[in-house]
Amino acid sequence: MSRDAGLPNLARAREILSQSSRVAAFSGAGLSAESGLPTFRDPETDALWASYDPSELASIDGFVANPARVIDWYGWRRNRYARVRPNAAHRALAAQPKMIQITQNVDNLLEQAGVAPDRVYHLHGSILFDRCHSDDCNYREAVDLENPPGLRDCPHCGNRLRPAVVWFGENLPLDTWQRAHALCAALDCLLVVGTSATVYPAAGLIELARRNGSRIIVVDPNPGEAGAQADVSLAATAGEALPLLLEGFNLESASST
Ligand SMILES: [Zn+2]
Repeated sequence: MSRDAGLPNLARAREILSQSSRVAAFSGAGLSAESGLPTFRDPETDALWASYDPSELASIDGFVANPARVIDWYGWRRNRYARVRPNAAHRALAAQPKMIQITQNVDNLLEQAGVAPDRVYHLHGSILFDRCHSDDCNYREAVDLENPPGLRDCPHCGNRLRPAVVWFGENLPLDTWQRAHALCAALDCLLVVGTSATVYPAAGLIELARRNGSRIIVVDPNPGEAGAQADVSLAATAGEALPLLLEGFNLESASST
């Protein structure tokens, strides 16, 4: 067997990691795909919802036009999220307790795999919570994914409650974004896992890290635009590549902010 264990560039990627003491991961849908979570455009998406454009369902305009429909869609999605479990990639990342996880995923599979909640920066929020739709109200509550709630009002202010996720056209949560930004400006290596790096502003984190001297390792079956910014790309699924990449690696210093 070669030093690459059948995965081209693996040895080079492991060499970069071994030279790095400030390492963070930046993940997208590809990290959770092997757990069975469909992306918006997954052909398996339930026929009931296939006729809707995601922008009609995951947007303020869609919510204002038909809040019950949006909440019903999230109820359907939450039932799917209730059944998924971490895969080998989540477990490989969780085995690096000092590594900060910046993710665009709204699931909690990293936390389920054992990552401390304060080490996961959820840029797009969490589907496990509802929040008040009013910007002036900070009400927030956990929801039961098995029995997701229907449309209901905020107990504090009477506005609608809605999933605590970032919809199309909405800003990322400022505090989380600022922490991710500061982190990426001070890294030796950023692992980019399962994200196409086409959605801004989150994709700008890769550029930011690169400009500040970080090396970039991309893990994606189709490295695409993220791969164009990479020092090395591993063209494999997250579940295939991350256990090989991180085996024996032990991040010593916490690159927290
Ligand atoms: Zn409220």
